[in-house]
Amino acid sequence: PARISLHINRVSFIQLVPSPAEMEPDRPIGYGAFGVVWSVTDPRDGRKVALKKMPNVFQNLVSCKRVFRELRMLCFFKHDNVLSALDILQPPQIDCFEEIYVITELMQSDLHKVIVSPQPLTTDHIKVFLYQILRGLKYLHSAGILHRDIKPGNLLVNSNCLLKICDFGLARVEEPDPSRHMTQEVVTQYYRAPEVLMGSRHYGPAIDIWSVGCIFAELLGRRILFQAQSPIQQLDLITDLLGTPPLSAMASACEGARAHILRGPHKPPSLSVLYMLSDAATHEAVHLLCRMLVFDPAKRISGSDALSHPYLDEGRLRYHTCMCQCCYSVPSGRVYTRDFEPPAERPFSHSYEESMLSVWQGKELIHRFITEHQQGKRVPLCINPQSAAFKTFIRFWYFVGSNCHSETSHCSFNL
Ligand SMILES: [Zn+2]
Repeated sequence: PARISLHINRVSFIQLVPSPAEMEPDRPIGYGAFGVVWSVTDPRDGRKVALKKMPNVFQNLVSCKRVFRELRMLCFFKHDNVLSALDILQPPQIDCFEEIYVITELMQSDLHKVIVSPQPLTTDHIKVFLYQILRGLKYLHSAGILHRDIKPGNLLVNSNCLLKICDFGLARVEEPDPSRHMTQEVVTQYYRAPEVLMGSRHYGPAIDIWSVGCIFAELLGRRILFQAQSPIQQLDLITDLLGTPPLSAMASACEGARAHILRGPHKPPSLSVLYMLSDAATHEAVHLLCRMLVFDPAKRISGSDALSHPYLDEGRLRYHTCMCQCCYSVPSGRVYTRDFEPPAERPFSHSYEESMLSVWQGKELIHRFITEHQQGKRVPLCINPQSAAFKTFIRFWYFVGSNCHSETSHCSFNL
């Protein structure tokens, strides 16, 4: 490994309001697109971890495939900026197998809570957060995975500023064939890329980069960049900032969306307002931001190119000086890793999905996957359905689940 000697101050620890998880054990800490997350104590080592129940798994074939995909992704990920499964609870006999519980690392907060909190966010914080978001995304995209719901609430953070991308309930494998349609239920509206708003039936990793651009602006300005009431107004706010796009940038848009843009007044770009987001909106910051907020997905910067932007040099340095797992210190200095932003070792495979033809078969596949995943590992954990904590968990889940969960529309809460 390359050795560079550097002197840099540690990132100031971010002040977090004590999270509920620290004060009261075993209570809900948040909801993803599909599922509830609880903070629990692992009885094997006393460590606080997050327990996620994956709901309605065996309702139909679509939910079966969705949950199996998310489960396999969580077990596939090996990256410090992407949340992964630490363990899966032991399933009961297949006849009684109805629910899946996954254990992940417990993080203290998320970027949404940090942004809306009164605590100051310095340029150093913004740089180290943005660096980690892009570092995690580069890994996901190199595995062929689109997250499709990158938003501040899905970026978990700890008090030492470590960040992990979470919630793969809407993640999909990239579709290389542009003639194949992809579903529309993607991304919370404020972070939705223009090509998705315009009904494009085929999209790629650029949709996640658009979301990162919106989050970057939100970190700078401490407010949502494009906060619209409807998808049409969302598009209008985007063109207010970027100007009316050329026809070439709307190549994949549906006819109605294109007509909406062409019917309206011709708007000039007003990107200079980005300098007014905050004092931290320097030339370098706005330059990178403008490369992410590009209307045409083909011209938008990629994750790995964004990582080469000089704005992220300091974030990289800070991350690898005191936060990462890939570099280490020796008395004479810091020994740095060979690859600061490693791609995935192999693409994520989803070929198994085609072999899943019925809910019962899906149940067997998932049951076998969990059992094989656990073999030779730690003492398996299972839920004690008689425990008071579990009864609260279930009661709470049904309360939220009946209000929130739906198979086709996306909804998520932030507590
Ligand atoms: Zn490192």
